[in-house]
Amino acid sequence: MDLARRVRRGELSAVSLARQSLATIDALDGASNARGSGLGALLTVDAEGALAAASTVDRALARARDEGVTERALEARYPLAGLVVGVKDAFCTRGLRTTCGSKMLERYVPPYDAHAVSRLREAGAVIVGKCNMDEFAMGSSTENSAYFAAKNPWDPSRVPGGSSGGSAVAVAASLCHVALGSDTGGSVRQPAALTGVVGFKPSYGRISRYGLVAFASSLDVVGPIASCVRDAELVYAALAGRDRRDATSLDRPVERADFSRSDRALAGARIGVAREYFDAVSAEVRATVLAALEACERAGAVLVELSMPHTRYALAAYCVLAAAECSANLARFDGIRFGASRATGFGREVARRILLGTYVLSAGHKEQHYERALRARTLVARDFDRAFEGDARVDVIATPTTPTVAWSLGDRIADPLAMYESDICTLPASLAGVPAISVRCGVVREQDRPLPVGLQLAGPRFADARLLEIALAIEQNLAEFVG
Ligand code: GLN
Repeated sequence: MDLARRVRRGELSAVSLARQSLATIDALDGASNARGSGLGALLTVDAEGALAAASTVDRALARARDEGVTERALEARYPLAGLVVGVKDAFCTRGLRTTCGSKMLERYVPPYDAHAVSRLREAGAVIVGKCNMDEFAMGSSTENSAYFAAKNPWDPSRVPGGSSGGSAVAVAASLCHVALGSDTGGSVRQPAALTGVVGFKPSYGRISRYGLVAFASSLDVVGPIASCVRDAELVYAALAGRDRRDATSLDRPVERADFSRSDRALAGARIGVAREYFDAVSAEVRATVLAALEACERAGAVLVELSMPHTRYALAAYCVLAAAECSANLARFDGIRFGASRATGFGREVARRILLGTYVLSAGHKEQHYERALRARTLVARDFDRAFEGDARVDVIATPTTPTVAWSLGDRIADPLAMYESDICTLPASLAGVPAISVRCGVVREQDRPLPVGLQLAGPRFADARLLEIALAIEQNLAEFVG
């Protein structure tokens, strides 16, 4: 990002960027907590910590420049110099309250940083606060936050999506430059789509989950939310890599995306279009995504029609597996440890999932539900393998990110199934563990307001770099089109 370069050169100070971000937060978000008139993106703002961190970055850079450290070396050491980051409140931050959107953790102040958080700090980023989210990352609208709902900056009467809704709003409303989210079934991609920003879920295991409050461990992935693909890649590259504290984190070199040929990256790229993903989406979203894909075709991409027949089992399989894993993970929140406020306990959605999870794992039901869901997961993953490796040999699979644009606050809160259905396009890539990214591909007008539409691209497992290259090419190709 140009900003980070300017900070490294000393043309811009990290402190001034942090001040700017704090002022924007004050203007647009500050009133959330008390009066409900703000966007509700942040649960905790750490003004003091942010300014102190920014000034540490400025001093370290000034010293390095004095010592004659080359620009190149500085870039490698501080790739995120001075960038202001909002961190989903599911990541432990040392000395800074981490609620995971729950009253259960209302007073929890972690004694350590999550892996992703310490990587951000080491890379020169400045953490400005903790972003609002659905309680324990369960939800698709951020209305399950035990504190207050977040609002969509495109139309504050609408939801921003979830569960990383606060992180998406923070980026979309320029409260910070980039944000950290977590994605179990779509929680980075879906809110990014509904707020018109970029959300990237890397391959499962690419970024350590150490210090991320666990929801469903076989699905949880750490991912950046940013205003453009380049920024998402920059954050991803700073976070990715082996960490021995997470046994599922991969021991493979992290490949960087090569953006130098982005103007030619679409020529000959094979983009799979699976019809199943277009069945259940609104006519407006379908038309917007298809028009974007036609624009890619005009830029030289080859559209390959595909069938991914097991897509329709993804929602049921996900519900069973995520509930089963969450019931095991959340057993540690017993109302006594972690600064719980015992009077309140879990919200309705979390309680529903724990109950469902214990049920599907109980003797006599395990074969009927849990094991069948595991088999369905394998079939969904095979659909991806076939598309990437079979006759189709596509580089990426393109789908809408969400079946509709952002809906009105309150609309789906009483209907859990309608809420879960907003994730039907993102769940399959989570079950398969493949990387997927959402970029804005157009807008739909509702009640005379434009609302963003997301295009999701999924790639083969570990082909994160190639996926980002194609995503950047598409983002550039669509630039004038998206407006
Ligand atoms: N909305 C999905 C759920 O409620 C996914 C959430 C997530 O990815 N954390 O489970």
